[in-house]
Amino acid sequence: MTNVRALVLERQHELKLRDIDLPQTVGPGEVRIKIHTVGICGSDVHYYTHGRIGPFVVEAPMVLGHEAAGTVVETGEGVEHLKVGDRVCMEPGIPDPNSRASRLGLYNIDPAVRFWATPPIHGVLTPYVVHPANYTFKLPDNVSFAEGAMVEPFAVGMQAAAKAKIAPGDTAVVIGAGPIGTMVAIAALAGGCARAVVADLAQPKLDIAGGYQGVIPVNVRDLAAEVKRLTDGWGADAVFECSGSSKAWETLLDLPRPGGVVVVVGLPVAPIAFDVATASTKEVRIETVFRYAHQYERAIALMASGRVDLKPLISATFPFEDSITAFDRAVEARPADVKLQIRLPD
Ligand SMILES: [Zn+2]
Repeated sequence: MTNVRALVLERQHELKLRDIDLPQTVGPGEVRIKIHTVGICGSDVHYYTHGRIGPFVVEAPMVLGHEAAGTVVETGEGVEHLKVGDRVCMEPGIPDPNSRASRLGLYNIDPAVRFWATPPIHGVLTPYVVHPANYTFKLPDNVSFAEGAMVEPFAVGMQAAAKAKIAPGDTAVVIGAGPIGTMVAIAALAGGCARAVVADLAQPKLDIAGGYQGVIPVNVRDLAAEVKRLTDGWGADAVFECSGSSKAWETLLDLPRPGGVVVVVGLPVAPIAFDVATASTKEVRIETVFRYAHQYERAIALMASGRVDLKPLISATFPFEDSITAFDRAVEARPADVKLQIRLPD
């Protein structure tokens, strides 16, 4: 353990930039990374404001942050694909490679997964972190650190698009134009959708999503009518629920076409009523998403190709010393803020 500076969530509502003991020794198969940029995620903010997410409760001081990019400064024994100086981004969840879920390729749903900034695991708002090389991905020269730190939330969009099994020319509907909803729409378009109807109540969010080619921004109140109009009454091929609003579920199943898919990304706080009859009549396929698996390389490839540009979603960048200011701004949830990032000292 080494005493290092970090942004620590002491308990609900209390953040401190202070020294804390974190492991810094590099074992076999691991790399040490100098952190450059860390994005603030809704989950970081939720632990700050609520002290818990479902069963995960902050019971001891915890370092926040899990959307990170940086530079490899040390490699452990047996690391082949990375070398000192490589610019990288990291997958924050470390599963047990021998678990049954991992052996099935479903490592994201390994019950034993250790995920940064999910209690009791420390996150990465600290200058250096040690991580398994297998969950560390090289960034091409034309992908910046700031974009590298966007790979994590974009991977959720990629996972959602993959679960939808999009076919070229599909029409997607995305409910919720927050960071995840917008990235789901971008991933769905990159995956072959001809258009993505993105719905929200907040006009500033719709304006940002609407800046992407193929996105049709609509006020959520007009969504059903607009989908009907755009598809001549047939319905959308893929519907992504990214708002987490229980209200969305009241009319959600009217949106997919017969044989269409609903991908559930947003998490309602309480169980919702589910219209089985409408779903059955259309044989709607329902898919769920828990983080992502095998999406980082694909996400990075799309960004490097120039077909996916996430830079317009980075609203502001704060120096590490102003981390608490950055979090308080995130708590404000300004409608024009998509992603706030923190930059560590050089
Ligand atoms: Zn995140």
